[in-house]
Amino acid sequence: MKSAWVEREAKQAVDRYGKAGIAADLALRIYSTRLIGRDAKLVLHGGGNSSLKTTERDLAGEKLTVLRVKGSGWDMGAIEPGGFPAVRLEPLRALRARKTLSDDAMARVQRAYLIDPQAPSPSVEMLLHAFMPAKFIDHTHATAVLSLIDQPNAAELCAKVFGGRLGFVPYRMPGFGLAKEAAAVFDKNSKVEGLILDKHGIFTFGADARESYERMIAFVSRAESRLRKNRKAVFAAAKLPQRVAAATDVAPILRGVCTLHDAGGEGAHKRPILAFRTGDAILNFVNGKDVARYARAGVITPDHVIRVKPWPLILAAPQDGKLAGFQRTASKAAQKFVDGYRAYFARHKARAHGAAMHDPAPRLVLVPDLGLFGLGASAKDAGIAADIAQAAVEGITGAEAIGRFTSISPADMFDCEYWPLELAKLGARKELPLAGQIAVVTGAGGAIGAATAQVFAAAGAEVALLDLDAGAARQKAEAIGGSALALKCDVTDAASVRDAFKQVVAAFGGVDIAISNAGAAWQGKIGEVDEATLRKSFELNFFAHQKVAQAAVKIMLAQGTGGCLLFNVSKQAVNPGANFGPYGLPKAATLFLVRQYALDYGADGIRANAVNADRVRSGLLTGDFIARRAKARGLSEKDYMSGNLLQREVTAQDVAQAFLAQALALKTTADVTTVDGGNIAAALR
Ligand code: ZN
Repeated sequence: MKSAWVEREAKQAVDRYGKAGIAADLALRIYSTRLIGRDAKLVLHGGGNSSLKTTERDLAGEKLTVLRVKGSGWDMGAIEPGGFPAVRLEPLRALRARKTLSDDAMARVQRAYLIDPQAPSPSVEMLLHAFMPAKFIDHTHATAVLSLIDQPNAAELCAKVFGGRLGFVPYRMPGFGLAKEAAAVFDKNSKVEGLILDKHGIFTFGADARESYERMIAFVSRAESRLRKNRKAVFAAAKLPQRVAAATDVAPILRGVCTLHDAGGEGAHKRPILAFRTGDAILNFVNGKDVARYARAGVITPDHVIRVKPWPLILAAPQDGKLAGFQRTASKAAQKFVDGYRAYFARHKARAHGAAMHDPAPRLVLVPDLGLFGLGASAKDAGIAADIAQAAVEGITGAEAIGRFTSISPADMFDCEYWPLELAKLGARKELPLAGQIAVVTGAGGAIGAATAQVFAAAGAEVALLDLDAGAARQKAEAIGGSALALKCDVTDAASVRDAFKQVVAAFGGVDIAISNAGAAWQGKIGEVDEATLRKSFELNFFAHQKVAQAAVKIMLAQGTGGCLLFNVSKQAVNPGANFGPYGLPKAATLFLVRQYALDYGADGIRANAVNADRVRSGLLTGDFIARRAKARGLSEKDYMSGNLLQREVTAQDVAQAFLAQALALKTTADVTTVDGGNIAAALR
């Protein structure tokens, strides 16, 4: 591992932060913390922390010795001054005299001595930083170090590799007890340049930011070179089928078997989002014939447990063309996982601080010959689980290459998994109504499609925006932000539709909601219109809806968790407008298509509903068209657009809200919701 410290950049950081009134020490603390946070081989997703001891003035102007320590949940790679709450150091140090400190007291201590009462809570490892005298302290969960210390003989290995320059602290969960123990180890030999926390990670100390950082890099490099020596060949491969199924065919099945059915009421399944990873190192790991031993031995560092649970779900390799059999065995294996998790909770329940059991579904699935899947309530969480799994693959592979991977006990993992102070890292979470669901919107470059994608994303769904105009889709997806996916798709081309859905599955793992919205209006007096125009309109306004629905249903059936098809059916479907035959006829057929899907797939839990919108400013209804129409009727544009019973203009947002209401109405299918401000001639029944 190479040092990433660049003196010129460090100086720039000092200058830049200096202008904002931030002292050089803290500027450098931020600079090197970011260097650490940006290297996945050192820390991942809110893991690790760092600190600085300095003097600052409190609100009354009094000079104080403070500990600036990373705030809980902050990511080191993107940390800002606000991510380092300042805490009065003396009262923290005084706590060392205490025999014990309850979790409640610890939670109060985390906030009691903050200089700024609005600051984020400091890291749960704050006291360890406070009890050590070093001015700068860095703490990482470096993968190479974990390979070395996740061993039965970690102390002996560390003594050899680090030559006595690091103290060795036996495993203990983070918190007061660990901080005291680490301080005791330090007191025995205060010349050490840092500490190893068995089965957890490494601390380095420095008089300045650079010294602490360079020591971290140097010790991790030592661990890396030890891992390169005397390596055993890992892992002997199991016998696998000749042709493995595609990840995009397997993912919907996995989603289905890892879903907690009816968890939020009948039909309200708690579905995971999937993040798929593969590569040589991952395949070598998942294909090993002993995978059940080393992959289920536990986490590589304790805080991973809140993201990936104590162990993964391991499946058999899915053979191409035999997915029905794979589905059956995967389903049994997933059930066994859930039972196993319930039993683990029941066994250790007394240590749960009164907390209810977390959802018992897997967070990580290993599939031989294919790779690994991270699971989470959102694409972000799934990605974090997958990143952690990748680090675990590397850490465990390294450990097995020089010895035998050894983790902490299930009871110790449970303590971390149910420790309120550890869980605080996840932040307060409000479960959104469409969390865990994947929505595909066609015609998403237009006003209605874009508004719909936005509304579904705000309700917690992962959204894929499909449009013939890739640029428009990308622009709308960027406006939504997060994991919103933009894809070019010609909905009149079956191959293009299949490909787009495959990409959605590759990104998120499946599809739960398809909003078939793309359309365009052709005009012509029906007795005179040429057939080519009529057929063109049928391609887009009927057959494309069928192609989208077919592609979605195929995935929904593989998942076995129901689903929702939503169609944009114009008012033309029930109330023809003069010269709008070429548009209205296929839309009428699409209205019937909705009912056919509702009928044929109701038993599979797949609902089909339509929104009957009229006179909405969108791709169909351009400014020019509106102006011409209004003029022809002798109306202002405003009066034309609000020419309905309520005299209110209907917006794309109104249509989007109607789609959302249908997606949330779990007992509603074959419904047509009218969004037209009131048009009695177009009223259904
Ligand atoms: Zn740690």
